[in-house]
Amino acid sequence: MGNALLSLASWFGRRKRALPWRDAPTIYRVWISEIMLQQTQVVTVIPYFEKFMGRFPSVEILAQAPLEDVLMHWAGLGYYSRARNLHRAAQMIVSAGGFPRSREEWVAIPGVGEYTAGAILSIAQGQPEAILDGNVERVLSRLRRVGRTRGDAAYKDRLWRLSRAAVGEAHRLGISPSDFNQALMELGATVCTFRAPKCEVCPVAHACRARAMGTPEAFPPKKKKKVWLVVQEELHCVIREKDGRVLLRQREDGEWRKGLWDLTSEAPSGARLLGEVETRYVVTRHKVSRRTQVWRAPTWGAAETGAGRWVSLDMPEVPVGSPLRKTWKSIRERFY
Ligand code: SF4
Repeated sequence: MGNALLSLASWFGRRKRALPWRDAPTIYRVWISEIMLQQTQVVTVIPYFEKFMGRFPSVEILAQAPLEDVLMHWAGLGYYSRARNLHRAAQMIVSAGGFPRSREEWVAIPGVGEYTAGAILSIAQGQPEAILDGNVERVLSRLRRVGRTRGDAAYKDRLWRLSRAAVGEAHRLGISPSDFNQALMELGATVCTFRAPKCEVCPVAHACRARAMGTPEAFPPKKKKKVWLVVQEELHCVIREKDGRVLLRQREDGEWRKGLWDLTSEAPSGARLLGEVETRYVVTRHKVSRRTQVWRAPTWGAAETGAGRWVSLDMPEVPVGSPLRKTWKSIRERFY
């Protein structure tokens, strides 16, 4: 095991990708990057991370910023509860007088789970704490041929134990927890890939049981198939005649994408119906079909009573999500 750990660390030293959060890995930068990387690919995150750091360079500045500004800088990344949690967490951290120092303290921060806590503690705070994300799961399950025969909980438990043992032993060998955990993640992202793993260039191939048995792609063992829930959204796109602005309302508590602005669900009166568009998107376990009626109107009551806002959707001045951007693209193609 010791040789495999040393080979992995030395491979990482030679092959690691240059990523913006790896420059000056402060606690703040690592925390923001780990939250952005949840459910989102590295290439997508890079420009958002750089823009976010430009506007909110410290936890104090993030804590003081209006939530709407934070959501604006998140718009397009999806899973907006992450941005709301970050904002709330920044306020908690500032009022506590500094960042958490242990796993228990980190997991009490909104939006931080076991994996993220381990990543921040090891990468930014130098502690030998374990991590387990999709990449690490794949590498460890292949190295040790870990099956799911005893159920999902036992499977995850075994992987966490392996991860803890590995970072602990690496630490005793003088490998920094930061380098070691990042090496595991990097191996999963670039070499031990889901399909066609590149075992011939893998630094831990000599210790890999799945490779020895010729079955790397049988791991991680498959989960039960996801059950999708189908949801239908009915919305109205009311376009103001004089300037092409669209009436939006802010999503409230209990709705998806709370705090973002979206089309109204109320049909306008005194407006002319132009037609209808249908777009689709996926969120967690839901397949959503969004049917939007498109209207042209001189003005409409809700905007005057303060329940809505007329917004230019080509350059929105309020935060909007990807489903609305997609719908707007489709409306522009058909009606402009
Ligand atoms: Fe993954 Fe192949 Fe390396 Fe095993 S030898 S860890 S399957 S890349």
